Amino acid sequence: MADGSVGGHPRAPDPALPKVCVIGAGSSGIATCKQLHEAGVPFDCFEASDRIGGNWVFQNRNGMSSAYRSLHINTSRDKMAYSDFPMPADYPDYPHHSHIARYFDTYVDHFGFRQHITFNCAVTWAKRREDSLWEITLETGEKRLYDALVVANGHHWDPRWPDPKPPGHFTGIEMHSHHYIDPAAPHDLRGKKVVIVGFGNSALDLACELGRKENAEQVYLSVRRGYWVVPRYFGKEVLDAGNPHPSQDPPLLHRILPGKMIARALEKKIAAVHGRPQDHGLPEPDHPFGASHPAISQEIYNRIGSGDVLIKPDIESFDGKQVRFKDGSVVEADAVIWCTGYKVTFPFFDDATLAAPDNDIALWKRMIDPRFDNLFMVALVQPLCAMMPIAEEQSKLIAAWLTGRYAAPSPATMAAERDAMHAAVKAHYVASARHTIQINCGAYAFDLRKELRRGIKRAKSLGNPLPIQPRAAKVLPLAAE
Ligand SMILES: Cc1cc2nc3c(=O)[nH]c(=O)nc-3n(C[C@H](O)[C@H](O)[C@H](O)COP(=O)(O)OP(=O)(O)OC[C@H]3O[C@@H](n4cnc5c(N)ncnc54)[C@H](O)[C@@H]3O)c2cc1C
Repeated sequence: MADGSVGGHPRAPDPALPKVCVIGAGSSGIATCKQLHEAGVPFDCFEASDRIGGNWVFQNRNGMSSAYRSLHINTSRDKMAYSDFPMPADYPDYPHHSHIARYFDTYVDHFGFRQHITFNCAVTWAKRREDSLWEITLETGEKRLYDALVVANGHHWDPRWPDPKPPGHFTGIEMHSHHYIDPAAPHDLRGKKVVIVGFGNSALDLACELGRKENAEQVYLSVRRGYWVVPRYFGKEVLDAGNPHPSQDPPLLHRILPGKMIARALEKKIAAVHGRPQDHGLPEPDHPFGASHPAISQEIYNRIGSGDVLIKPDIESFDGKQVRFKDGSVVEADAVIWCTGYKVTFPFFDDATLAAPDNDIALWKRMIDPRFDNLFMVALVQPLCAMMPIAEEQSKLIAAWLTGRYAAPSPATMAAERDAMHAAVKAHYVASARHTIQINCGAYAFDLRKELRRGIKRAKSLGNPLPIQPRAAKVLPLAAE
């Protein structure tokens, strides 16, 4: 595929369609750009960095990438790829971040829309005017008007620190996993005693890497509660081999069997192949598999079993370099790494437009605030699969919406559906800031496609009216600040 040819079916931008601003050219923003490009929707994409790929650009000059030097994807290659652009066949099952960044870059050239992306140009403010047009302020001070706005600014870049922190004062190195690069940078952790707090994928990756004796002297993994750990391989199969690509409908059996039954079967499979957390000295999960976002690691049990990673409960307090845990044990540590996740933030919106306090944000189909028919959030989800195919499915709906091929339900229906979905997610998942935007990939993507079909019928019956008129281009240029 990486042959330099232009793929897809691009259409020249149609001035009769609304003009769109896309914020961000990470893997989600480019998924939207591609759909808009093929639908002939005029758009400008603004990217704060000098390149494509967001989080997957190691040491991205935008300062927003949380990738560490050794990062590999934890969802498999084939399930991460966009539906119409497979990753190169010589990529491994779980490619390195450098492979992934290259893949996204190639995608943009393959589908031929790089000219619509302005690099080194952050959107600093986005205001919905009374006439419903979006007034976009760029870091240059320039202001532009758009008929619609797509936000794809990512939600794994703004570190969430513990709040409140455990009492006392720690005098060693403190950092968030967002800033971790390798055992020697940004702090030299080699030969040191390191406490890692958390049990997400970053926490386990860092514990495994630092735990090796050529790196830290000792790693302590502070774990508040039990979470499931999924291996990368079940025998010779990658972890998601049994799931269809999110662009394909789940098998009938997956659709009719209760989710709890499927989760129970998976739980058994994981226990048989990999063991359960409590078999390896970790707290027993207080919830069934599927009720929390599991961590993925082939190696963590090995490091624990080798004594390279010692399990500790929550931190009780600090005193100088002493870290006291809730079981009364104390260790003298040189560093604490908080792997406590990320905040969902939109620095270019005022809170009345959109905000996610405590990462809690309820949107219709996890994309749309029913108050606004011209604002679309992409990849504002925490999937159990790769983010890219989900962003792609969402973008298909956005392109259909903006071209009048799709008609949305009434705002009241959208609000009711939004509330029902949000309540169902809250009831299903363990209550924590980690699970506020969780989705079940197969079911979510299937539901989006059903909604798209329903909306196409609605639109046809109405004669395919354009829901958003192209007005922005007719308004006089705005003065820069
Ligand atoms: C350590 C780690 C490992 C991960 N592993 C996986 C994995 O294996 N599989 C998976 O699917 N997901 C994984 N993720 C999730 C990750 O968020 C997604 O893979 C992906 O990066 C999401 O893409 P995005 O485009 O939504 O966001 P990002 O990759 O964060 O890209 C957002 C882009 O928007 C730009 N931007 C932001 N604000 C502005 C602005 N105001 N103006 C202009 N541009 C702006 C940024 O510069 C950036 O380029 C991982 C995340 C982390 C932190």
